[in-house]
Amino acid sequence: MTDIIQLLPDHVANQIAAGEVVQRPASVVKELLENAIDAEASEIKLIIKDAGKTLVQVIDNGKGMSVTDARLCFERHATSKIKSAEDLFQLNTKGFRGEALASIAAIAHVELKTKRPDDELGTAIEIEGSKVTSQEVTVTPTGTSVAVKNLFFNIPARRNFLKSDTVELRHITDEFHRVALAHPSIAFAFYHNGSELFNVPQENYRQRVVHIFGAKTNEKLVPVEEETEVLKISGFVGKPEYSKKTKSEQFFFVNQRFIKSPYLNHALSSAFEGLLKDGYHPSYFLNLTVDPKSIDINIHPTKTEIKFDDEHTLYAILRSAVKHSLGQFNIAPVLDFEQQSSFDTPYNYKDKVATAPKIEVDRSFNPFADDKPIERKQSSFQRTAFKQAPTASWESLYVGLESKGNGSDDDFSQVTFESDSKTASVFDENSVETTKTTFQLQQKYIVSTLKSGMLVIDQNRAHQRILYENFLKHITIKEATSQQLLFPLQLHFTPNETKIIEELKEDLEHTGFVFSELNNKEVTITGVPIGVPESEVSIILEQLISDVENDVPDASFSAADLLAKSMAKSLAIKNGQTLNGTEQEHMVNSLFACKEPNVSPTNRPTFITMAVEDIEKKFM
Ligand code: ADP
Ligand code: MG
Repeated sequence: MTDIIQLLPDHVANQIAAGEVVQRPASVVKELLENAIDAEASEIKLIIKDAGKTLVQVIDNGKGMSVTDARLCFERHATSKIKSAEDLFQLNTKGFRGEALASIAAIAHVELKTKRPDDELGTAIEIEGSKVTSQEVTVTPTGTSVAVKNLFFNIPARRNFLKSDTVELRHITDEFHRVALAHPSIAFAFYHNGSELFNVPQENYRQRVVHIFGAKTNEKLVPVEEETEVLKISGFVGKPEYSKKTKSEQFFFVNQRFIKSPYLNHALSSAFEGLLKDGYHPSYFLNLTVDPKSIDINIHPTKTEIKFDDEHTLYAILRSAVKHSLGQFNIAPVLDFEQQSSFDTPYNYKDKVATAPKIEVDRSFNPFADDKPIERKQSSFQRTAFKQAPTASWESLYVGLESKGNGSDDDFSQVTFESDSKTASVFDENSVETTKTTFQLQQKYIVSTLKSGMLVIDQNRAHQRILYENFLKHITIKEATSQQLLFPLQLHFTPNETKIIEELKEDLEHTGFVFSELNNKEVTITGVPIGVPESEVSIILEQLISDVENDVPDASFSAADLLAKSMAKSLAIKNGQTLNGTEQEHMVNSLFACKEPNVSPTNRPTFITMAVEDIEKKFM
């Protein structure tokens, strides 16, 4: 008998190892960003093309590498970060396995440029599928640039397995958020296909959270600070009234490393007990600092799970610190975002002296000067006639406001929309009149006048509501029109994911989907609901799957409801989309023809109204 065991050639071993480290472009993003941080960079740029399928590049201004190191870093188990097994218990760096670059180089085209601060010239290396194709001396700024092109070029199966650009970009953005949140003292910029998605300077933690999650976040944040012998906590939790149905704003960082911990998450939920509505999750952005010796981060290849020596104590401290902060917040005024010093501790506001607001007045401003010309120039202020007869909901909407009206609202009553029905011309673009009825604000809101005030509609939420009711209707009456695809659409999923689709298959069919094949790896679709573009199909299903996965099914769980919500979310007009006058009106009319126009499918307000008195008050 001959021997049959063989050692795998290096490039094969590397490819196999790569599968563990690199699942998708976002994994490359994570590894490269972490390397840049370990290199003590203060500025990091992330450049992505085609959701990372064509290019993932990270440029840092860190300590760079020598010629030898530049060559060695692509070897497996090449790391500068640990020298012996004991070092594993003292880790202060993100990486330590020394396999990220080797793995990435095994399955992509990699271009490395690097220079140390004291070197005159740097090194450029190109490597394809583990083979070095070029190495030269080069002029390059201090720091390192790693460009990873054509990911999985030599493993077509993996490449085909990648999801739509939208989904892959979402994974990348998630990674970016995690890294950027963990390191507010590093400036980050993030570009996708040439456009800037994020650009955050070196700043404090509160500013970082607000820069990433939007200016509105500022008022939601309640500071949490606690320092004990075993654990230091600092960061923020969201006020209970801003809690979310998803867990998308839950961040634990342990020693500046993003981690997932169901156990610590439970500590948070219990601190919020009694403050949250059913099915809502608290937001939190918490940094925990512990002795590196007391944790083991080596238990999971992608390193988002962690083992603590003394979980029970951490749980108790965390829970009580958060409870304490929540108890304080309702007496604390909203902190001024610019006042950096007040961010550090939640309780020092008492000593602050109130400063008078600075108001700058343009004394030369004449409100009547060129009123008209300005109006005409603003093309986004598309004003069209609004003559749709009000539905019952409309009427009830302004009945309430009307009672508050007083005699001085003459100007407003002139532009009140007419209640006579001339519906025929509503959707005719040519019939644009000068009556001011709706216009779009910041490509996000539709503003309209009411008899006694103003109506502001959130276009995305409103459209979600409209689509949601529409889908729900089709699902429940079990009839929908389907549009046949010219070529069957074949989509690949994991067995878990196909199981979810399988469970929802019947409901999906009622919306108009037609499945010709559904096994544990792939789904073939031959028909889609009318109005759903083919390009959106995979996005809808991805969204649906992630919603099912994230929305822990509770008592009120209904597959049909979830499906309708999910599809509405995927297909609704996004913020940032310009709507013409006809579209704006159509939106307003359809919204108020809904059963529950007031809230989005996820229970958030779809519009707000402002009575004239409230506006008047603001001028006092
Ligand atoms: P690990 O981070 O686990 O050590 P990697 O494969 O990610 O393994 O990197 C290998 C080595 O290459 C690192 O230990 C480090 O010495 C070097 N290196 C990688 N990226 C950079 C960078 N951006 N700047 C400086 N050195 C780097
Ligand atoms: Mg690394």
